Amino acid sequence: MSLNVQLIDEDKVFHLNNVQNYLNKSTHSAYNVVAVFGSQSTGKSTLLNALFHTNFEIMDERHRRQTTKGIWLSLSSINQSSSTIILDVEGSDGRERGEDQDFERKAALFALATSQILIINLWENQVGLYQGANMALLKTVFEVNALLFQSASAPAKSKSRIMFVIRDFLGVTPLEDLESTIMADMNRLWEGTSNNDSISDWFDFQFIGLPHKLLKPEEFNIAISDLSLKFSDNSLPDYVFSQEYSRNVPLDGWPIYASNIWEQIIQNKDLDLPTQQHLVAQFRCDEIANDAQQLFSSALPPPPYDIAHAESMCSSLHSAYSSALAHYDNYASRYPDDVYNLKKNELTALMSEHTSSIIAQYLDAVRSAVEDAFRSELSSASDTESFTQTVASAAASAKASYTEYIQSADPSEYNVQSTTLKESLDTLNADIEDIITEHRRKLIVQVTEKTVVETVKPMQSKVSGLIQNLSGFSKRTPQPATDREQKDDLEVEPAVGEAMQLWDTAVTDTKTLLFSAQGQLDAKLEVLNATEEEKQESTTALEFDIWNEFLKIVGKYASSESILIKAREVYEDSFKYNTEGMPNIFSDDNLWSDEKIQELYRSSKKTALSVIDSISKSPDIKLPSAPLTNLGIFSEIAPKKAAVVKPFTSDQLDEIKHQLIKVADSTYIDARQAYTNASKAREATELANKAAI
Ligand code: GDP
Ligand code: MG
Repeated sequence: MSLNVQLIDEDKVFHLNNVQNYLNKSTHSAYNVVAVFGSQSTGKSTLLNALFHTNFEIMDERHRRQTTKGIWLSLSSINQSSSTIILDVEGSDGRERGEDQDFERKAALFALATSQILIINLWENQVGLYQGANMALLKTVFEVNALLFQSASAPAKSKSRIMFVIRDFLGVTPLEDLESTIMADMNRLWEGTSNNDSISDWFDFQFIGLPHKLLKPEEFNIAISDLSLKFSDNSLPDYVFSQEYSRNVPLDGWPIYASNIWEQIIQNKDLDLPTQQHLVAQFRCDEIANDAQQLFSSALPPPPYDIAHAESMCSSLHSAYSSALAHYDNYASRYPDDVYNLKKNELTALMSEHTSSIIAQYLDAVRSAVEDAFRSELSSASDTESFTQTVASAAASAKASYTEYIQSADPSEYNVQSTTLKESLDTLNADIEDIITEHRRKLIVQVTEKTVVETVKPMQSKVSGLIQNLSGFSKRTPQPATDREQKDDLEVEPAVGEAMQLWDTAVTDTKTLLFSAQGQLDAKLEVLNATEEEKQESTTALEFDIWNEFLKIVGKYASSESILIKAREVYEDSFKYNTEGMPNIFSDDNLWSDEKIQELYRSSKKTALSVIDSISKSPDIKLPSAPLTNLGIFSEIAPKKAAVVKPFTSDQLDEIKHQLIKVADSTYIDARQAYTNASKAREATELANKAAI
């Protein structure tokens, strides 16, 4: 015997939780609902318990007190193929509840909306009595029936079976007679309603006579067993249930359906069953979809979603997705197709959102792995000559391995938006382009820097050669022994002229070097497929670096100390040595005179002073400014701080010259002294010789 639950209490409260919990016990998804009506204490509960092996409360014989009012529900398992829900309606017949017929009316509406079979339980002696509560009840049933089902389209139109169970049936009056009496009453009631259809369009009638339970217990039991079979054995021709009676609400939706119906009835709202059924379908499909979604969420693979975990990620994703869908299909497919499909679409959209996000993370991971591999493959191939082929084949294999990884995750299964896939592929392609550019710029920087180094060296030796040559000028200084006419030419002697052109020559030489370096660099940039902007930055960087190095060299040679050393060297070369590189012996009277020494002093000093002017007058070099493109090539190569050569002030120059003159003067004095001493010595010797003669 199953226990029962209170569905609706005497305060008209619907106990949804009770029913939901209770009906969870049902092992069948197919079910039928049977409700019983009748006057109080006519043995309704007794009948149900006997027929369905339920356990409804029965009135105590001795006190004749009414049992707990309301509607009670019990699940009967007498039927093998489906669950049978039994509703025991404990109303009143006016005796206990006074004139309050309201509950009966509401209960009748409720029973008709939710049940396939209404059992009307009455004594045989009640048959034909209009004043019986049953008749008022049936009138209500007929009236509301049309309203309930009016908006139903043909397939949703449901019939009900009304089964009259006549109690304490004596058999004196044949059952057929009672049946026709009742049917006459029914037809009269039906005609009193505004129904246009025939009563049989909506109802099947059935009549059962039951012997007195207490007086004829055996016959009662036989009749009960007989009737019970009609409810339990669907192979019998007089099996009471029919597909026509279906309310189109799966069992799991029945509690909420019943609750909604009751709510509508309580609020005296118009009952529209198809709408209610639709609402229940929506509600339940929603619930089922939520359950499915929870199943799905809990089965989702944990992060990280990367290549290393791809296999388990894919299988978890697949099983989470398909088992959630299977759950939904299993329960929700019993509801009308439109609602089922609508919620299914919502569910798959929601799941796809999750899978899409996982797949998107996987795409990101794959992309960055592929890009890393691509980057390192490029960086290990630093040969500029084969740049184009290396890059093309590495890019092709990166793209191929990306596609392979993506296909293995089979994103099409989860409705991952094609835009997501396309966006990722676009990003990959763009990233690959960026990596190639990055790599190319690295190589451009390398070749440019190499070119700079290769150019700076010859430039340095060129300039130092020019400086070196300055000391050789004195060797071409005409000897003081030459003609007087040439004396004026000393003003424009070649050494002074060349010295003045020192930096101009250096600039010209550097320009030549730069020109050829530029040509070599251009060829390399061509091989690297450099863009115009990149070429521009690279070339400007080369130019900047070369001239910057040039300025550094200028700075080195054009310092006060260096200039003075150089000028001294030039002076001394000129004053102390002759064109053959032999030291001047100023004591030699044949070659030298005071005038000649003075002349040599003047010209040497002039040459040395012109060297000071020449070296100190540094060229006006303007370094190229950084290109606006700012690709990083120029800024990578060009030094942050440009070399600056500060021009000398006239005071500084005067000081250097003063220093030189001091040196020159002292050598001149020494030379004059040497000559004077030698002359004196010679005169003394001559005098001695004369004296000796
Ligand atoms: P309910 O109020 O309609 O559910 O009636 P109950 O099942 O509680 O029974 C009310 C009373 O009627 C109880 O005292 C039963 O013993 C008695 N009763 C049950 N079945 C029969 C029957 O077949 N004939 C008669 N005369 N009394 C019955
Ligand atoms: Mg009862």
